[in-house]
Amino acid sequence: MESSNNENPAISFELFPPKTEKGVEKLKLVVAELNALHPEYFSVTYGAGGSTQDRTFATVDWLREQGIDTAPHLSCIGTDKDEILDILKRYHEQGIHRIVALRGDLPSGSGLGGLGELNYANELVALIREHFNEDFHIEVAAYPEFHPQAESAQADLDNFKRKVESGAHGAITQYFYNADAYWRFCDDCRQRGITIPIVPGIMPITNYSSLARFSDACGAEIPRWIRKRLESYGDDLDSIQAFGADVVTSLCRQLLEGGAPGLHFYTMNQSDSVLQISSALGLSNGAPAS
Ligand code: FAD
Repeated sequence: MESSNNENPAISFELFPPKTEKGVEKLKLVVAELNALHPEYFSVTYGAGGSTQDRTFATVDWLREQGIDTAPHLSCIGTDKDEILDILKRYHEQGIHRIVALRGDLPSGSGLGGLGELNYANELVALIREHFNEDFHIEVAAYPEFHPQAESAQADLDNFKRKVESGAHGAITQYFYNADAYWRFCDDCRQRGITIPIVPGIMPITNYSSLARFSDACGAEIPRWIRKRLESYGDDLDSIQAFGADVVTSLCRQLLEGGAPGLHFYTMNQSDSVLQISSALGLSNGAPAS
């Protein structure tokens, strides 16, 4: 096994709050398996406008009870400041010290009214820093292939800089399958004086149709050669997963060898692919094999 140039990459895992009892039981198994890789933390997504608030709290509470470092996501769109501050106070009292601060996207047809008091993630970051100073380590989102609503690449980079200047400590990227987009984004950031760690978000490939749908919506590009191969496997999930694990392992290896500070896996509450990729990278004990 090749070893990485990055001797000590931080790995972390994103979970979503399950909707059913069966989902909760599955999540517990997945967390037990992934926790054996000694991640830095697990993050838990949050529905914009508070649409999954209670389920996020329940998942965060359970992770905390297990003694696991947890980073709740918090989005600001459609929510007023007092409500956000109440949530932050709750997390603060629980001893949570990391937050993923986002604008969020209001679910279509959610019936939630206006945008709320905070329209962009940089305003949420500023609010957290104003009320909690350095008590929370704040992660924000970064988009190496640019956010779909950004006016231009430059405008998106300017926005990212605004989030950093508002007090973000680190960033997690939207997923991508083209390492050059990440390197170029990091170079542009360095040229703008941005020095916070920018951790690549990694989406394992396990199902072509849902990945394609999701990628179209969030502006993450699946390169044509990958799409074509995945299409050619049809319903053959084993082949999709074997090819996907190969492609994503190779991407992760390039990223770590190039000096990425860590890897943040979008687990989709599944452990198989992440374990396969981590093992191929030699990350099975939380650090690359020498
Ligand atoms: P922002 O940084 O506010 O940017 C949003 C858009 O506005 C960009 O196009 C930006 O260029 C533009 N912009 C920013 N500031 C200004 C300004 N002052 N004037 C004009 N334009 C501006 N969504 C959820 O609902 N729940 C989650 O748990 C969740 N987790 C995520 C985790 C990660 C790591 C990532 C990458 C995304 C996540 N998302 C989540 C999705 C995210 O909420 C969406 O991508 C959302 O559309 C943008 O959120 P943001 O925090 O990047 O927004």
